Amino acid sequence: MSEKRGIQTTDEGQPNEDFVLVQPGLFDYPLKEGEKPFLLAARCSKCNAVFFPARTRCRHCGANDVMEEVRLPGRGVVYASTVVHVDSPSGIKAPYAFGYVDVPAEGVRVFALFTGCDPALIRPGQEVELVIEPIRTSHEQKQVIGYKYKPVRERVSQ
Ligand SMILES: [Zn+2]
Repeated sequence: MSEKRGIQTTDEGQPNEDFVLVQPGLFDYPLKEGEKPFLLAARCSKCNAVFFPARTRCRHCGANDVMEEVRLPGRGVVYASTVVHVDSPSGIKAPYAFGYVDVPAEGVRVFALFTGCDPALIRPGQEVELVIEPIRTSHEQKQVIGYKYKPVRERVSQ
């Protein structure tokens, strides 16, 4: 599955594809074949603090323009979660859950949507993994691609 979508250009010079990214620079999409989803973060080369979304000035030591791009691994642990029972103004269908995920490998906390189960079942301490998929439909009827975390299921007893 590595078919390239034909990229056309509109009058405004914007790429005209059948999807848009929720925000540029957060992740790579589409992924290369066999590649696991990851988030694009920034690491301060002075103090090693990691930030997502990436930023140019270090909030920890104040250094400027010393950031290196790092790929956040997909596994994380839920820090907090909230269930929302009304559709978001941007078109995310209720009920849905969002909150914070800690990525221990890089010591960073990520703000994210949750998916893959009943939103009320997302619990602090739960292990989750990153998925990159449509989160809503834009006003132009395009799929808006974003990142979410879903519960890791290992040897689930039925
Ligand atoms: Zn720093």
